[in-house]
Amino acid sequence: MIINEHMKLVDKNNFNLAIDNHQVELFTLKNTNGVTCQITNFGSRIISLFVPDKNGLFEDIVLGYDTLQEYLECDEMYFGATIGRYGNRIANGKFTIKGKEYQLSKNNGNHNLHGGNKGFHNVVWNANQTEKETLELTYLSKDGEEGFPGNLKVKVIYTLSKNNTLEIKYEAKTDKSTLVNLTHHSYFNLRGIGKESIENHFVTINASKYTPINKEGIPTGEIISVIQTPFDFTKEKAIGKDIHNSDEQLVFGKGYDHNFVLDATNLKCAARVIEPISGRTLEVFTSQPGIQFYSFNHVEGIHSGKNNTAFITRSAFCLETQHYPDSPNQHHFPSVILNPDEIYTSRTSYKFSVK
Ligand code: BGC
Repeated sequence: MIINEHMKLVDKNNFNLAIDNHQVELFTLKNTNGVTCQITNFGSRIISLFVPDKNGLFEDIVLGYDTLQEYLECDEMYFGATIGRYGNRIANGKFTIKGKEYQLSKNNGNHNLHGGNKGFHNVVWNANQTEKETLELTYLSKDGEEGFPGNLKVKVIYTLSKNNTLEIKYEAKTDKSTLVNLTHHSYFNLRGIGKESIENHFVTINASKYTPINKEGIPTGEIISVIQTPFDFTKEKAIGKDIHNSDEQLVFGKGYDHNFVLDATNLKCAARVIEPISGRTLEVFTSQPGIQFYSFNHVEGIHSGKNNTAFITRSAFCLETQHYPDSPNQHHFPSVILNPDEIYTSRTSYKFSVK
């Protein structure tokens, strides 16, 4: 193991602050191979993730900030956050459950995005580090919070395993029928943050279909084949290969910002990304039916991050495992309703290796 100058952890003191009487902290998970992940209970967010390249050099591969203050003041990107109650967009912020209409805030043009202004990314969770490699976070989202019905108890468990896999397990229970669609929003650059664009990362997504969007990012309702389109990642392809194509979908998304319909949902490999220079490889396994592939298309005017890393368009990618966007209003998409007699569970693993 080589620990180079990039293995500079974020200072815990920068997160030592109480918000509304809830103490925020920064926790460190570390496995026996030296893979290290810092997580804060503010938004249940990953703050840094150090993994080795093919020469054993560790680098931080997720975008973010050095201080809690910056997350509070500058973050419009949901860096590293747990997203809820509803990850992705709900058209017009409106939905109906059991004949009752609910109105959420419109925090993304006319639509609701990632749970609204006080989504799960912006609240303080209770945290309990049960092992060196495991952190459990819980949050009670009260009935009516951000317009959603039902008291929702949510649990997120992060575990860093010996085989360099970061596993995220989610659980939720409600006392009234509600919507749940939880996801994780890390922005990865497998070369190491602050390095070049991710256009030379090679991606495979095990999805033969995707859900096209209108110009406001809302699914049209169609579920169409990726074959012979820029959305075909069924065979390994560089992100940059087709991203500048004039395809209307890429114009609407300003790049990739689309939900892929996964061919398998039983924790099979959903996506793989290889960065050829470092050799770092990420594989994503999930129980979710979809994955939002986002190529970091909207960075205008945002603050620079950790170690003065500038945020540049396409300097990172997200692979957000989730249900399809706007599912509450698209009744042929898999259901996102959780009833009081049910338990929501889902699981996603990000596995790191070298090639
Ligand atoms: C969405 C993007 C959005 C980004 C940051 C992604 O999950 O798909 O449209 O810009 O989050 O908010």
